[in-house]
This record gives sequence, C-alpha cells and structure tokens, in this order.
Amino acid sequence: MDLEKARTTLFAQLRSVPGTEDIPLAQALGRVTAEPIYAQISLPPFPASAMDGYAVRRKDFDAAKPLRLIGQSLAGHPFHGTVTAGNCVRIFTGAVVPEGADLIVLQERLAESAVGNDGSEIVRFEEHEPDEAFIRSIGNDVEQGQIICPAGEVLTPLLLGSLASAGVSSVQVVRRVRVGVFSSGDELRDPGTPPADLALGQIYDSNAFTLANLLQHLPVELIPLQRLADDEQVVATALADAAKSCDLLITSGGVSVGDADFIGATIARLGQLAFWKLNLKPGKPLAFGRIDHCWIFGLPGNPVSTIVTCLLLVKPSVQVLCGGRPSPLLRVDAKLASQVLHTPGRAEYQRGVYREDNNGELRVAHTGDQGSNRLSTFTGANCLIEIPKEAADLPADSVVRILPLSDLLA
Ligand code: AMP
Ligand code: MG
Repeated sequence: MDLEKARTTLFAQLRSVPGTEDIPLAQALGRVTAEPIYAQISLPPFPASAMDGYAVRRKDFDAAKPLRLIGQSLAGHPFHGTVTAGNCVRIFTGAVVPEGADLIVLQERLAESAVGNDGSEIVRFEEHEPDEAFIRSIGNDVEQGQIICPAGEVLTPLLLGSLASAGVSSVQVVRRVRVGVFSSGDELRDPGTPPADLALGQIYDSNAFTLANLLQHLPVELIPLQRLADDEQVVATALADAAKSCDLLITSGGVSVGDADFIGATIARLGQLAFWKLNLKPGKPLAFGRIDHCWIFGLPGNPVSTIVTCLLLVKPSVQVLCGGRPSPLLRVDAKLASQVLHTPGRAEYQRGVYREDNNGELRVAHTGDQGSNRLSTFTGANCLIEIPKEAADLPADSVVRILPLSDLLA
C-alpha cells in the first residue's frame, strides 16, 4: 500500500474521540474546539478612530472653517460631549469617536493652531480631500454573536488572541486523547541505565522516548506503559489491558515477520487487524487495527522507521482523534546537491538538509548512509527527501520534492 492510500484509508476510519470539557482560554493552546465559538462583543465595540488627528463634522470641514477645539478623546479616555457645529475634538488611534463627529482629519493636515479670544484653541486644516473617514465602525472586524471559530479548529496562538479580543473566557474542547506507548523487545533497557550495566546484546529503548516527544505537543494524555517482552502471552495481556483505558496504542518493534514478532498476530486475535505492507522505505511493515474502541498502530522497531511512520501516518491520525483535521503533507521542490541512489519499487524518504543557494533556489543533500537503524541520519537534517517509487538513481541537479521537518514536527 502506498503512503497516500494508507493515509486516506486511515483518515476515512478515524473519528474524534467522544467527550468534551470546558476549559479556561489560558489553558487552551493546541486544544480542538468541540463547538462553534461566538463573539461576546462586537469589535470594535464603539466607533473608533483609526488615526491620530481631529474628530470633526464633515460639513464643517468641507467649509474649511477654523474649528474650536472642545476636548480630547484618548484610548480608554473618551470625550463624553457631542461635537456640534464649528467644534472639533483632538483624538488618537483607538479612541472613541465622539457623538456628532463623522470624520477624522489626520494631524498631519493641521495648517495652524491659535488661541481664540475666549482662550480656547482654534485649529485650521490645510485644504485637501480626505482619503477616507478613518473611523472604524462598530463591528467592522467582528459582530457580536458571530461565529469567530468553528468546531474542529486547533486553537493556535492566533485564534486564541482573536477569542480573547471577542470576550471569550472559556472554551468547550475535545477531551485529551489517551495514548499509550509500548516498546517491545527483550533487548531494550531504559534510557538512563548506566552504559556499564548494559549486558551484551542490550540497547537503549529510544523509540518510546521519541514517540512520546513527537506527540506531546498535541492534545494527548500520554499513558506510561511497561515495555513488552518478546512473549506472546505477555504481549496479549498487556495490549488487552491497555486497550481498556486508552484511545490509541502505539507499539514499536515486533511487527515484522521474525519469530519474536507477536504484535500483529495479537491484534488479529484480540480485535481486528488491517496489517499493511507499506510501499515505503523506511517503514515497510506496519500493523494497524483496533481492540474494542482502542486503535492500535504497530510501528516497525528500527528507530528511523518508527519516526518516519509516526510523522507520516500516526501523527496526522492522532490529530483526527483529537477532533481536528490531519495536516496535509507539505512538499516543496528542491534540486539535489548530489546523486541519490534508488532502486525503483518503493517510495523512499531519506533524511536531508536543504538550504537556499546564491540564486535563491533550494538545494538538498542527503545525510549519508540511510540505514533505518541509523538515528544519526537525523543529525542536522531539516527535511525528508521524497524519492518516488518509480524513480531510478537520480543524478545531481534532479528536482525532487522535500518535506520540511519544521512542518512534519509542527
Ligand atoms: P524488531 O522489529 O522488533 O525486529 O526491531 C527491529 C530493530 O529495531 C531491532 O534492531 C531492534 O533492536 C530495534 N528496536 C526495536 N525497538 C526499539 C526501541 N524501542 N528502541 C530502539 N531500537 C529498537
Ligand atoms: Mg523486536
């Protein structure tokens, strides 16, 4: 199965988890709205000046009369009177346009200012055609009662700012998705174990650590789980147990066809398995299925495969479970800085570094030997280079598509 087919198959099956909660705006970053959100006030809530200048009656201004200054309106300090014939009010950006005024004359247009007989200030403007009234009418941005955010939106800093400005103080959001992460393999030890304590054949469990970090900025609750031993009964008991309390389980390792690979068989026995041989490198075997209401991804164990399949398939699936939409994959054209070797058959995602050359064109270089065990291929990488399945070796200067990590990790 090709990547795009796998993605559409996944997204067609997955739904937002049930359950919502009402939370204060200040805690809502990254959460997904469960219902539309309405503006509590209009914006601006009063006619506001868009400039520093003078609030006048257009009638008076057209007559180019000297006007008597009767007060000022500053942001937060309105002028409470009315601008009547022959008068004007000094005004600043964001201040309430006083009753009676329908035009702001920019302060740059002041021709002269003098003290009148009664001690009041008299102003006169240069003759000109005003470009516009420079008044923001009530609701010019947002009208009270209008939907300012539909359901199913991720609350970004930008949206949260807009909700705050419209007087929203709390939001109904989809509850956090409960995600359990399992590593599997008898060879694995906890990161932090002193190197001297690793027996021959043991390695650190990096996948559980990476997966948790790849997902932690999403609205999930990560459930810490015991590592799975390479034992069919242990795997079955642990998966069945965890499925009761999680919305999603992610395992890594134990999913290829080796003797000690029980994940796929166990999902099939306890629930439904849609096992895929993905037409993807790295990340060929991937088990997907469910046990009761809990979805399960069985990712390949090689750390690079775990990461690539998580970014391309699991993360967007989690976004759907969280109530949002899966991020589309952003692909950008770039020229290969050097040759890439590839045998037609499987689409490949190599780790690469792109940069802008002197002509403003993007150039991309791979990060060396692309073995799927080699986490070091991510060192310095800022993208995945997509080599289409039908491509043979690609010479330098070939145009390829890259997937920036800044987007995949967002
Ligand atoms: P498996 O699919 O279980 O055969 O694992 C494939 C390769 O990935 C083996 O070399 C494993 O040792 C390695 N591997 C599996 N799980 C992890 C993990 N959690 N952390 C680091 N390496 C792993
Ligand atoms: Mg294993």
